[in-house]
Amino acid sequence: MSHIKKFAVIGNPIEQSRSPELHQAFAKKENISLTYDKIYAEKSEFKSMVYDFFTHHGVGMNVTVPFKEDAFALCDVLSDRAQAAKAVNTLWSKDGLIYGDNTDGQGLVDAIHALGWPLAHAKILILGAGGATRGVVLPLAQAGATQIVIANRTYARAAQLVCDLKALITPSTILTACPIDQISGQYDLVINATSASLSGDTLTLPKDLQFNYAYEMAYGKASSFLTHAQQRGIAYSDGFGMLVGQAIVSFEIWNGCKPKLTDFLDLK
Ligand code: NDP
Repeated sequence: MSHIKKFAVIGNPIEQSRSPELHQAFAKKENISLTYDKIYAEKSEFKSMVYDFFTHHGVGMNVTVPFKEDAFALCDVLSDRAQAAKAVNTLWSKDGLIYGDNTDGQGLVDAIHALGWPLAHAKILILGAGGATRGVVLPLAQAGATQIVIANRTYARAAQLVCDLKALITPSTILTACPIDQISGQYDLVINATSASLSGDTLTLPKDLQFNYAYEMAYGKASSFLTHAQQRGIAYSDGFGMLVGQAIVSFEIWNGCKPKLTDFLDLK
């Protein structure tokens, strides 16, 4: 009987995924033997491929674009984080049931802590109201943020997100929505969770917006948001730490040990 644990990431496209490389690096550090494959799936075969993986002794599976909502829908048991995110990126199976979690938000929190930036009592502005923002609000609130403002180009989307998430976070975090062209004031941290840099768009930030730390969720792309931060002498980071962070939280769920995030940032 083999002691090599079987893992995979499923998506479409899947070639670009860094997950196998990250999980192999964690496994090496922790002395665990595992296989970690990339699985390409068409939308119509996603569900059967997940069931097939767990039927054939798969231990854990990561889920990437565009299947995080489909993974949410197929789980028998969901974590609070997954329920808040309405999306799942980490699956495992126990007693014939499929469990789902969303580790993106905790990955971001761990990446920000690794930078030494404070989240307790922080006033945070998040730009964008898509899937990534939905996934990070609850973990940021749980990390102690006292105020979170979600600013979006399509205001109604930010307002809806605030409405959905308000019931899940404690009153110690004030959560509000704002149109992105009306942002102003003083924040500790601004997180760019728009996909602007992926499409090469420029984000124009008003001069009267003051902040100390700038986190761009995207990585490996030129970002007008990071250029703005750099030019103004604001501490900044791209999203590679978040990618490593979410992978580490998945690894911990499956293997019971948590590699140190800063040991893997040079894989960029
Ligand atoms: P979505 O497509 O769900 O949402 C995109 C958001 O960006 C929307 O709020 C959209 O506004 C906004 N947006 C897009 N273009 C512009 C623009 N030119 N100006 C202003 N707003 C704009 O994307 P996700 O939430 O899934 O991902 C967001 C970012 O986070 C991406 O860069 C992604 O790569 C990154 N990410 C990084 C992770 C990591 O591990 N580092 C993990 C997950 C995501 P509107 O609603 O008006 O269309």
